[in-house]
Amino acid sequence: ALIVFEGGDGAGKSTQVQAVARALESQGRTVIRTREPGGTPLAESVRGLVLDPAHAPVDAYTEALLFASARADHVNRFIRPAIDRGDVVISDRFVDSSVAYQGAARGLGVENVQELNEWALRGLTPDLTVLLDVDTSVAESRRTDRGLAADRMEGEDRIFHTVVNQAFRDLAATAPKRYLVLAADQPVQVITDRILERLTEVLS
Ligand code: C5P
Repeated sequence: ALIVFEGGDGAGKSTQVQAVARALESQGRTVIRTREPGGTPLAESVRGLVLDPAHAPVDAYTEALLFASARADHVNRFIRPAIDRGDVVISDRFVDSSVAYQGAARGLGVENVQELNEWALRGLTPDLTVLLDVDTSVAESRRTDRGLAADRMEGEDRIFHTVVNQAFRDLAATAPKRYLVLAADQPVQVITDRILERLTEVLS
């Protein structure tokens, strides 16, 4: 099975990935944790290239293509074989991040980025996508806690993150059965419990 966590920066994805993975392991399941952009040596190298200030600014088309090629490797070499072995794969971000960041926020178009990623996915669809739905102000304080942004998010940055989050919500609305949308400002344990409850059905 493939379980994906999505949400804007500072939504608390990594905390939940860790908590959920541990809980599933304690139930005796084999859990493989991964992330995007990244997840294989090739894909991590691509991530490094895109995030390297030496290459900034990377235009949106280039970024979308590089992330899609990284995803193709991740799916083919890592995720697909793990699913075929019967493992539970948990990914911190997946294709919806490309759709929200490059498609919606960077203006390439949601459908264009979805279409581009059909090549990378080769028919793979997550069994469940957990969307940690952020209020921009919550994300802002978490980012600051993690040292991600010393200054307060403002102006364009705030609009960018609002667009990203709305794009995630829109994606979730198109397929409610394959999404679990949770407000990210709830206590960590409450969120974990809701996810595990839903996973009991999804993994049965
Ligand atoms: O999830 P993580 O914080 O590791 O993501 C790294 C950065 O890459 C984030 O700042 C996120 O905004 C950005 N990103 C992006 N497009 C994607 C995936 C991530 O711009 N498709």
